[in-house]
Amino acid sequence: MRLLLLAPPGAGKGTQGERLAAWSGARHIAAGDLLRAQAQVNSDLGREIAAYQVRGDLVPDQIVLDVLTPAVTEAAARGGYILDGFPRTLPQAIAAAELAARLGVTLDAAVYLYAPEAVLTRRLLDRARLSGRADDTADVIRHRLRVFAETTGSLVPYYTERGILVAVDADQPPDTVTAGIQARLSGLVRASGRQPGSRSCR
Ligand code: ADP
Repeated sequence: MRLLLLAPPGAGKGTQGERLAAWSGARHIAAGDLLRAQAQVNSDLGREIAAYQVRGDLVPDQIVLDVLTPAVTEAAARGGYILDGFPRTLPQAIAAAELAARLGVTLDAAVYLYAPEAVLTRRLLDRARLSGRADDTADVIRHRLRVFAETTGSLVPYYTERGILVAVDADQPPDTVTAGIQARLSGLVRASGRQPGSRSCR
């Protein structure tokens, strides 16, 4: 299975990504985690990534592609991937589609998790006490939500036009959200005559 999770901060991408990976056998690739790991490296690149993340700004597309492409390529050759937080801009989406085409695979679905902004803010502020993340402060949370609305949100019509958007209400308990996504994906898999985790192309 090859999926991407498109969701504002606080919608539960990470939780759902891990669960969907366990369910489908695909690898969970979290862009934010890979970038945070790279930001820990004592190098100019590490410091540059950290500076964007701490402000809640998007890391430049070329850096993101350099960090993500090897992981996606490797996962595509195995059981597929659940991309969490990538792509986040139109150029990244176009690059991801080109990469998939080059690898001879296509995306099965773009899962869009949505919830009211007040719910997202509350969840992020609750999590902030435990996360230890430098970008989990009230001001930066507000900025991250704005960046989603102004930039990443444009990927919703992009994937709708491509006929692969699966929108799920994320303002529900985590198990209900997981079940909702799985029901929609099983429908897709049945429609295309495949089993979850199989590697044939759409
Ligand atoms: P959240 O969705 O809660 O903001 P993430 O861990 O997904 O958490 O992302 C944290 C930060 O990592 C972002 O604010 C941004 O700085 C950086 N980042 C993650 N994914 C991308 C991406 N695809 N493009 C650019 N920057 C990214």
